[in-house]
Parts: sequence; structure tokens; C-alpha cells
Amino acid sequence: MEHLGEKCAVFGIYGKGLDVARLSFFGLFALQHRGQESSGITVGDGARLLSHRGMGLVSAAYNEEHLKRLQGYLAIGHNRYSTSGNSMLTHAQPVVIDEVKFPQVDQFHEDAETGIVALAHNGNLPSVEALKKFLKDTSVVLDDRSDSELMAEAVGQGLKMGLSLPDSIKAVLPLFTGAYAIVLATPNMLVAVRDSFGMRPLSVGKINGGFAVASESCAFQAMGAEFIREVNPGEMLIIDDHGLASEQVMAPNPKLDIFEFVYFARPDSILSGKLVYDVRRNSGVELAKECKIEADMVVPVPETAMPVAVGYAAASGIPLEMALVKNRYIHRTFIEPEQHVRELGVKLKLTPLAPVLKGKRIVLMDDSIVRGTTSRQLIKAIFEAGAAEVHFLISSPPVKFPDYYGIDTPKQSNLIASQKTVEEIREFLGATSLHFLSLDGLIRATGLSRDVLSTSCFTGEYPIDLHERSKDVTYEVPKD
Ligand code: AMP
Repeated sequence: MEHLGEKCAVFGIYGKGLDVARLSFFGLFALQHRGQESSGITVGDGARLLSHRGMGLVSAAYNEEHLKRLQGYLAIGHNRYSTSGNSMLTHAQPVVIDEVKFPQVDQFHEDAETGIVALAHNGNLPSVEALKKFLKDTSVVLDDRSDSELMAEAVGQGLKMGLSLPDSIKAVLPLFTGAYAIVLATPNMLVAVRDSFGMRPLSVGKINGGFAVASESCAFQAMGAEFIREVNPGEMLIIDDHGLASEQVMAPNPKLDIFEFVYFARPDSILSGKLVYDVRRNSGVELAKECKIEADMVVPVPETAMPVAVGYAAASGIPLEMALVKNRYIHRTFIEPEQHVRELGVKLKLTPLAPVLKGKRIVLMDDSIVRGTTSRQLIKAIFEAGAAEVHFLISSPPVKFPDYYGIDTPKQSNLIASQKTVEEIREFLGATSLHFLSLDGLIRATGLSRDVLSTSCFTGEYPIDLHERSKDVTYEVPKD
């Protein structure tokens, strides 16, 4: 089976009298940064499930007609992010078991109806052996199915035996060996579950007598809902005619992925009680303590590193300049599967402001280095714009280990820090100097204790057993 690791957005809403499809659209729009490959919404109207899935950005995946067809009083939604070359509508979520697809109007959109359960998943199960074993005796074809499809099938088994949705989920939760924030729906019930490690975020809010769940709290403000709280690791929320009920279905062992703070989440979201903006600004302050540079200006790589640069500039006293202009209409270059498309992507995305940079010593700030390819291009472009020195400061430690819980960084050998020392990376990038924030500094910036965070991409310490995938990890990495 091809590995389809996904870092995605999930969304859910329940409320009689609410335009749940449109509100899902707004919620998914605010969660666009978590996935740009495809988007889907499934609504329940008490009797049926109705779905629409589309390729590309949320704004391209739906039109007015699609939203009008999706009539109901509950909905779940999903944005899919894929770093694999496999950009296909068939992988778009929500996954619906036993649905009937309509004849396809075009290759970018699909509509479907009925089905017994819909599931939207953010995260990744590094091992699906247990799930496959459980489903082995079913008539369902198991090969080429993603982890999310297998999870939905397993829940569907319980429903077919007459169990309620919460009981069907509880019966198979021990088989979900990995990271997940999932939202599920039958025609009249919404359920959300966060794995016991809370590796991926999930929050709950309220809106006009109804409730919403979303990967990140930033979605609530955008759709006129009010943030209530984060869903606890190991907690199940059940939303139906009786309102909102909660059950702690697994013992919590919080390990939020620290990379959510570093790169992934939006700055206006709250994770483990901390505003992402504050954590990023603090990491700039920590960098200023660890690394003092003689320079004329601090320049962030937009957007993620902007609060980092604000923190560094304030703490160091070096003026902040927005000397890289970003094309607002381009989405993250990482999803382009081909290297040359990715490299062209950098030029399309960022333009160095030569009149500001000329002759100056620059502190360039970014949140992370993964492959090193985009950073290399950028540093070259900044020198070409006339900069005298480019000191590259990164607000996280070197990413040496691959991710199996849903961020889906490339395979380990493509992570530049798994192959090269800091000095070798500096040389490859062509920077005047290169500095990474220490892990202790980054943890201090979060204001959380180390034991409630997963730091696997920096340390290789994987809180959830990787089972058969562990043989793909090497600890023979540069030690600095
Ligand atoms: P590179 O120089 O090619 O390693 O790219 C580094 C850039 O990728 C940084 O600006 C990060 O903000 C961004 N980045 C880090 N992790 C990811 C990820 N998982 N997906 C997409 N972009 C990422």
C-alpha cells in the first residue's frame, strides 16, 4: 500500500436551523493552511448523508450549487494536504461507507449520497496491521485503502451490527494505533475523538444553540462561533438532539506535536492553552538570547516566521524590515511534488526588495529547514538583491527524523539535517552563518513542559509505537 500520510484539517457542526454546509465552508476556509489539495463536506439531514468533494483550495472545491444541495442540520468537513505526488479526488475526505456516488460531472468535483457513516481524519496511523486483521473477514477490499478509510470501515462494522455510533467507535478505538483527531457523522449524530496523546489539535465551540468542532480554534472566529475549549486527549464528544456530551474514553497522555507551534498552526489558534502567536514570538526572544549577531536588519520569511522576527527584533534591538514580499495568492510550495516545480514556486512566491537589502547585513528568520531547497533559493535571491551578509536563524532545532503522525515530512534521507552537519548545511545554503534554536529554547518558548510535547522530528523519540515503520528510521545522524 502506498503510504498516504496526511496533515489535514477536520471540522464538524451540529445545529438545527443553521446553514451547516455554508458554515462548514467558512470553517474549512479558515483552516485552509492545513490542507490545500482537496476539500469535502458531508451533511446529515436526519435520514441521509449528502457529500461533495472537490480538488484544490476550498474556494475552488465548492460553488453555490454544491452548497445549496447540501441541506441538513449537521455536517463534517475536511481539507486534505498531501506531500505525496498522489493528488486525486479518490483520496478526498470525508470518507463515507456504503455511499452512492453520482455520475461525475468533471474530474475536479464529485457528489454522493446515502451511506452509513462519514469520517474525516487529521493525523496518521503508522501501522494499520491491527485494523486490517480486524477487517480481514469482511467482504471489503483492504488493499490500496488509506488508514482513514480503514478506520471508517471498522466503525461501519459496529453500526451494521446495530451498535450506536459512540459504541461502534469505542469497540475499535484500540485498533487505531497512531495519531488522530477524527470527526464522524451518521445522518443524526456527530462524534469527535482525539487520540490519547492529543498529537493533533482539536477544539470545540458553540454557535447559535449549536456546536462546532475544528482542528484549530481559529476556525470559530471566522464563522461567528465562540471557542469553548480544546478537546482533551482521549476524549470523545457526542453531539446530537440531547446537546453536547463528553466521555473520557482513553486515559490521557498528552504529547502535542511541537511542530504545530513551529510551523503548522495559524498564529491566532490556541494549542494546549497557548496562543501560537505568543509561542512564535517567544521563540524569537529565545533565539536572541542564544545567538547575538551584528546586523543591520531582521527580515522574516513570510508568513510563519513573522512573529519570530518580531520577538528577535524586540529582544536584540535590530530593526525589523519586511524585505521579502509575498504573493498572497500562492499556497504553500511544499505540495508541488516535483523538485523543479517547487524551486520555481519559490520565485513565484517571494520577491526580495533590492532597495531595502542592498549593502546590508541581514538576519534572515525562518521557522524550520526541511529539505533545504527553498531556503537555498531564497538566500541566493537575497544576495542577488545586493545583501552584504545573510545570517540565517531558524526558530526550531534541525529536523533530523521523519514524521509518522500526520505532518508528513519527506523520507528521512531527504531531510537535510539527517545528512549534513550545521556547517555543511550552511555551506549548502550559501548563508554567511546559520543558527538553530535549541530544543530547550523552543520548549521554553511554548511555556509547556517537555513531557506534554512530542518532539519526534528533532529527537527521534516517538511517543506512539511505529511498529513496522520503525525500521525506516536511522539514528545515524549528524550529532551537532
Ligand atoms: P526548505 O528550505 O525546502 O527545507 O523549506 C523550508 C520551508 O518549508 C520553511 O519556510 C518552512 O516554513 C516550510 N515547511 C516546514 N515544514 C513544512 C511542511 N511539513 N510542509 C510544508 N512546508 C513546510
